[in-house]
Amino acid sequence: MQVTIKRNEQQVCVPASATQEGDDEPPDPGSCLAAMPALTVPKHSGRIVRFPAHRAGILSPAARAFRKKYFPGITTKLWNDWQWQTSNRIRTLAQLEKMIVLSDAERAAFTQAATTLPLGITPYYMSLVSPDNPDQPIRRTVIPTLQETLHTAGEADDPLGEDAMSPVPGLVHRYPDRVLLLLSDFCSTYCRYCTRSRVVGHGAIHPSRNRLERAFAYIEQTPAVRDVLISGGDPLMLGEEKLAWVLSRLRQIPHVEIVRIGTKVPAVLPQRITQRLVRMLRQYHPLWMSLHFTHPDECTPEAYRACAMLADAGIPLGSQTVLLKGVNDNLDTMRALIHNLLKMRVRPYYLYQCDPITGSAHFRTPVETGLDIIRGLRGFTSGYALPTYVIDAPGGGGKIPLMPDYVVGRENDALVLRNYENKLYRYPEPCNC
Ligand code: SF4
Repeated sequence: MQVTIKRNEQQVCVPASATQEGDDEPPDPGSCLAAMPALTVPKHSGRIVRFPAHRAGILSPAARAFRKKYFPGITTKLWNDWQWQTSNRIRTLAQLEKMIVLSDAERAAFTQAATTLPLGITPYYMSLVSPDNPDQPIRRTVIPTLQETLHTAGEADDPLGEDAMSPVPGLVHRYPDRVLLLLSDFCSTYCRYCTRSRVVGHGAIHPSRNRLERAFAYIEQTPAVRDVLISGGDPLMLGEEKLAWVLSRLRQIPHVEIVRIGTKVPAVLPQRITQRLVRMLRQYHPLWMSLHFTHPDECTPEAYRACAMLADAGIPLGSQTVLLKGVNDNLDTMRALIHNLLKMRVRPYYLYQCDPITGSAHFRTPVETGLDIIRGLRGFTSGYALPTYVIDAPGGGGKIPLMPDYVVGRENDALVLRNYENKLYRYPEPCNC
């Protein structure tokens, strides 16, 4: 028997035994998760298959083969332990060389120049990396190349000017009613295009009580702040106790209406989403999550399970995607990604033009590429699937939305509009009578 998940327009078959290994955390009888219906994913045939959302014993075929080859003594239970995944991250050139054939540009990133961002890839995410194709999208996002060390015109280490808007260390106050709180600079997997590569992975931002109390004091003294985005680094790399303390401290501040967590964990370390974690998180509603998915190949059975658990805990999920050259800068890839996200109950939220951080030229596309993608999506797919395409203005101007020109102009008292099929329509403005 097999259950089937549609991934990137392909069928991914998971042996039923892979979802039935008895090494997941026991379901909590009091938790709605235990009682929730399983995630259902329609097959091409129209038959509905059931996918056990609460089970942690999932192992996709790619991960199973990878584990067998490089971690033969590791059980499924250990493989699905997020702390094992974190401690066994791929962090050195020597480890990489055992798993993939490096191109000259990739090797040179280690031997000829130092890249700003450290190497870090979970074994799970490494199982998605092509061993022999340096142009594979997932590989481009996590394996450094020499191009990262090039500084081209207009680039900066802190293009969004976050450091200048930081009233206390690790807190950025850019918009009037919301702040960004950086908990730590640690991620399980480092994205080569990271906007905060100047700080992330450097061991400079710690979740220390002293620093965080200063941040909480600032928020307490600033009643305009109604929304706190917790980010980093990846906040979900903290243990439950520390995270619960942060959330409870924020909940004690009466004017903080909502808390958001920004995380890439469901894509790079879905094993981190455990019943223990979601039981804790759901105590701090209204809690929202901004996930970070980049390519449809990240939408594995493991990622489906992680998102299902979060959604079942009542956490609204959105995804922020960075538009990246050679990764997702074409309509077919972006369409596959946003459709997969909707099936995972994740609303595509923002599509970011890649920030001009130092060494990002090989990742950045012309703005017209993003506009073409939006033009190819709007009208051709569900409105819920459409992210807002934005540029985060260099210098700290905030997000500026970009749209293809749907307003053509005015004709007498009518607005002339172009629809998704390139046809013109006139909308009569109300008269002043
Ligand atoms: S997960 Fe986020 S913070 Fe961490 S390296 Fe990737 S983009 Fe940067």
